[in-house]
Amino acid sequence: MISAEIVEDLRSRHLPAALDAQRLSEARAQFGSTVGRTSDTFDMALQASNRFDAQLSEAGSTLRSPDDNNRIAGHFATLTESMRENVSDFRARLVEAMREFSSLLADLEKAKLESLTDELTGVSNRRHFDDFLERHIAKPGADPTSLVFADVDHFKKVNDQYGHLVGDQVLRLIATTIRHSVREADFVARLGGEEFVIVLPGAPLSVAKALAENIRVSVAAKSLVRRSTGERLGNVTLSLGVATYRSGMSARDILKRSDECLYSAKDRGRNCVVTEADMPNSSR
Ligand code: GH3
Ligand code: MG
Ligand code: MG
Repeated sequence: MISAEIVEDLRSRHLPAALDAQRLSEARAQFGSTVGRTSDTFDMALQASNRFDAQLSEAGSTLRSPDDNNRIAGHFATLTESMRENVSDFRARLVEAMREFSSLLADLEKAKLESLTDELTGVSNRRHFDDFLERHIAKPGADPTSLVFADVDHFKKVNDQYGHLVGDQVLRLIATTIRHSVREADFVARLGGEEFVIVLPGAPLSVAKALAENIRVSVAAKSLVRRSTGERLGNVTLSLGVATYRSGMSARDILKRSDECLYSAKDRGRNCVVTEADMPNSSR
């Protein structure tokens, strides 16, 4: 049990980090070469403009003799043509550079999103959660903020009975159910394994408790069906712990507090919600 969690923790913390580092260094190299090419383009435009200047002063010197109209007209025609070619070449290069920049920015945006997302369920991952909570509680007015910690009951049995793939499907279903139960401003993450966490900015304990209860009921009401055969697999349930942030607490404190509530929910028979107000020695 511990080793699976450790493996998942290592995987979610270090594997994406390694991939990010590789993708970032590739992006950096591409960015550098695009910047180099764009700067070459500007140099060429500068040289073209210098040439145009030189040609203009040369043409200007011929203006001194009044009977040279034809020669002057010829000069200007050549100059205009050469400038038109330069400008259109310059424009084409700039358009290409801009296209490369936008595609690089889109790639970076995508890589950033992937590095913060749990691949299996599409909700945020542990790293994103740590970062979000840390930043959130550093803001003035973070109180009240509540945290709901949910863990699937007897999930090992689901895997043992129906296989890991069905287990994965169940995790996806739970993530979707949680996502559909929360508000826009709430933050949902899978911490690894069969543990989910929801941060509820602005929510006091009572609101978070009601939301946790909604999620518990929604998940318990789903009947699992094996897709390939239509076989009914029964239900899964969640145990949930709810704690509220108070100023002075660290991100670790509030996570630990909700984890204690979760383990009390397991002790009380699972498929239930325990808040810190239900805990012994609670001041709430
Ligand atoms: P409890 O009610 O006490 O929480 O019991 P449990 O069986 O849910 O808890 P336990 O921690 O013993 O088992 C968790 C299981 O979750 C074991 C592990 O194989 C499984 N698991 C962890 N991550 C994944 C995953 O990504 N996919 C699948 N299918 N199973 C996973
Ligand atoms: Mg469990
Ligand atoms: Mg667990």
